[in-house]
Amino acid sequence: MARLLKAKPLADEAGERIKSAVNRWKKAGIAPAVAVLLAEGDPASAAYAAAKGRLAAKLGIGYELITFASDVTKNRLLKEIRRLNEDNGVHGILLELPLPAGLDSSRLAAALDPLKDIDGITPASKLACMMNETGLRPATPQSCIQLIKSAGVTLKGSHIVVVGRGETVGRPLMQMLLHENATVTVCHSHTKDLARMIQGADVLVTAAGKVNLIMPEMVHPGLVLIDAGINMLGDESGITGDAAPQTADYVDAMSPVPGGVGTLTTALLFENALHALTLQQAAGRLQV
Ligand code: NAP
Repeated sequence: MARLLKAKPLADEAGERIKSAVNRWKKAGIAPAVAVLLAEGDPASAAYAAAKGRLAAKLGIGYELITFASDVTKNRLLKEIRRLNEDNGVHGILLELPLPAGLDSSRLAAALDPLKDIDGITPASKLACMMNETGLRPATPQSCIQLIKSAGVTLKGSHIVVVGRGETVGRPLMQMLLHENATVTVCHSHTKDLARMIQGADVLVTAAGKVNLIMPEMVHPGLVLIDAGINMLGDESGITGDAAPQTADYVDAMSPVPGGVGTLTTALLFENALHALTLQQAAGRLQV
């Protein structure tokens, strides 16, 4: 049985770091606060937004959930984003994705102030990620990297196979791993022989959103497997990852779903909010 890479201890450590930083900001007269924009219609997004609100309360961070009907227009959302960009009492803005069909998430993301962009979705944040420059990085790839490190893996020189080249996880993760001097192979739906790719890997991160994409016969005993996939099981029985659960018997270490990447991601979003405050201070926007 593989070592189980639970995220809770890492999320708790992040929580302690965040609480200390929040106290420092509050002593300096600034109460850290984030705003989340949620368009109704996706029950999973609503549940994630509610979970973020509970965590924000524990961490002492202000949290404003702004909910819209599922037929909200692009212009209405743009107006709200612009209002939040201008609001000095809001330090981080999160657009809960996916948006209802017909709304162009890239267009809305581009309207966010890059210094408040706590999930790294603006063009400026994406460019900074690609060029390894100062900026806010998406939380999910950060979570994957922390979990890899928690397995005792040194990123430099390791061969890491990333399954998925999506904008949220695979693509930014590939860039962040390259900046850490890992050797990265990115696979996607056109990859011919996924199992053969995985045989040469030290670490596999899967972020495809496909149930049972990774099966025991595709892995090897030395592999560290990070499962970032989230797949909704029908009949409200929860979520599962991309790797079949029995894969855990055939690898060295594996992160569970639930209780893995997603658990840490939420905490790291709030750590990003504090990083956002530091960037805003450096830009001379805060009266400390
Ligand atoms: P996405 O944009 O839909 O990308 C999915 C990627 O998987 C695509 O690159 C796709 O290939 C690839 N793929 C699909 N089927 C495949 C197959 N059979 N073999 C190999 N590759 C395949 O997804 P995303 O937004 O990046 O999210 C990826 C997963 O992470 C989802 O399950 C999502 O729910 C989850 N997620 C988790 C967290 C967390 O905190 N844990 C946060 C965000 C997202 P093509 O490019 O060729 O289409």
